[in-house]
Amino acid sequence: MNDTANPKHITIIGAGLAGALLATLLARRGWEVDVYEKRGDPRLKGYQGGRSINLALAERGRHALRLAGADDAVMAQAVMMRGRMVHFLDGRTDLQRYGRDDSEVIWSVHRGELNLILLQIAEDAGAQLHFHRGLQSVDFDGRLAVFHDDRDDSAHEIVFDSLVGADGAGSALRGAMKQAVELGERTEFLGHSYKELEIPPSPDGGFSIEPNALHIWPRGRYMCIALPNDERTFTVTLFLPNEGDPSFETVRNGADARALFERDFADAVPLIPQLEQDFERNPAGLLATLYLDRWHLDDRAVLLGDAAHAMVPFHGQGMNCAFEDCVALAERLLADDDRAAAFAAFQAERLPSARAIQAMALENYLEMRDRVDNDDYLLQRALEHELAERHPERFMPRYAMVTFHRMPYEVAYARGLQQRELLVELTRGHDSLASLDWPAVDALVRERLSPLPADE
Ligand SMILES: Cc1cc2nc3c(=O)[nH]c(=O)nc-3n(C[C@H](O)[C@H](O)[C@H](O)COP(=O)(O)OP(=O)(O)OC[C@H]3O[C@@H](n4cnc5c(N)ncnc54)[C@H](O)[C@@H]3O)c2cc1C
Repeated sequence: MNDTANPKHITIIGAGLAGALLATLLARRGWEVDVYEKRGDPRLKGYQGGRSINLALAERGRHALRLAGADDAVMAQAVMMRGRMVHFLDGRTDLQRYGRDDSEVIWSVHRGELNLILLQIAEDAGAQLHFHRGLQSVDFDGRLAVFHDDRDDSAHEIVFDSLVGADGAGSALRGAMKQAVELGERTEFLGHSYKELEIPPSPDGGFSIEPNALHIWPRGRYMCIALPNDERTFTVTLFLPNEGDPSFETVRNGADARALFERDFADAVPLIPQLEQDFERNPAGLLATLYLDRWHLDDRAVLLGDAAHAMVPFHGQGMNCAFEDCVALAERLLADDDRAAAFAAFQAERLPSARAIQAMALENYLEMRDRVDNDDYLLQRALEHELAERHPERFMPRYAMVTFHRMPYEVAYARGLQQRELLVELTRGHDSLASLDWPAVDALVRERLSPLPADE
């Protein structure tokens, strides 16, 4: 750190989900925190986020919210999702539970509401929030940052001790850092994009379909999902390839979208009265994974959340992971006055975790769109449930490790691979669990899988 720096002052870029949470965690511990946000204050003008209206919140995120004192306020507007409600092409539906019971569920939260709650608790904790301040450029040698105010096109300069980049996937801080140091940045585009549509409440004001589920219409190379909102609507997300048939190249306007829905998502058509308008009004969002080899520039800057490791949304973990980053960075900063060392330790802890959840998020796309209605997969899943019952200390579905527990993502990933091999081996040549040799199965589980680590 520079000689005149305040060891307990930090400047955060971005007052989105991660920026507001980190500000709270540090301000509650007596730190002076300044947060600079490009947009206006959503508490004054209403949320203008412009993408993914609701998000699945899981245990990792909830743990961070508890530490920040925000869990109760967030949960007051969350809608429980017990499992995936799979909508087959013929109109049948099937609820595949995520966990053992209602203690193992995920929660649908409204991005805008969540952001409002987090901003308020950050301010209440003493953080200074500065809106209409979009980071424009950074002079790292002089520790000067320049911000742009979109209201009058003015520029504003501040002196900083250290910058934290919580400014999302298109991070301006990352852009500035890579002028000063090699970050090893690579972006891999998925080749698929998404569009959001809406299911309004039913005529009696209630939910139009089962509220306590994440609905999925898996169709091989593409799919639709729908998550409930507490105002009795659902946000539907259509994921399609960018090329091929069907794709965003062939489904170009509202009429094309209706034709696709009538063919492939017929039971959803009556639920989405504004299908054409929603499709034409809402932009298609790109999906990509961002990899960096380095997240910090000595003691001067560090990245977290989407700015460091944006991922595809198919495990519903981007925000959860970003919140875990905040807890990890706050712990490092509180434990070590040597800020460069704290940033390096944060990166060493979290980069392998981010890589693991990025990989699992990509794998989950295949699982959601293609495998949830496949017989081999369903048999493996049935065995997975059975083994989790018989050997709870050794066998836990990967989804549960990621979603209901807080073991490092890389541990969940490695265990998941070992378990997957076992499931494939044990179900090979069988079409039901009844024909398995259970004593041999149990012996193999004990031999191959060591007891699982407990959450701290
Ligand atoms: C379709 C979709 C569905 C998703 N679903 C889920 C889900 O179910 N569960 C889940 O956990 N995650 C989900 N995610 C991921 C989640 O949205 C992100 O991981 C999360 O928002 C990351 O938080 P963040 O604070 O790092 O970035 P952001 O939430 O993007 O916040 C960045 C903030 O920085 C501000 N900013 C940007 N540039 C500047 C600048 N130059 N100067 C100052 N401020 C700036 C922005 O205005 C914004 O407020 C989903 C993502 C998508 C796209």
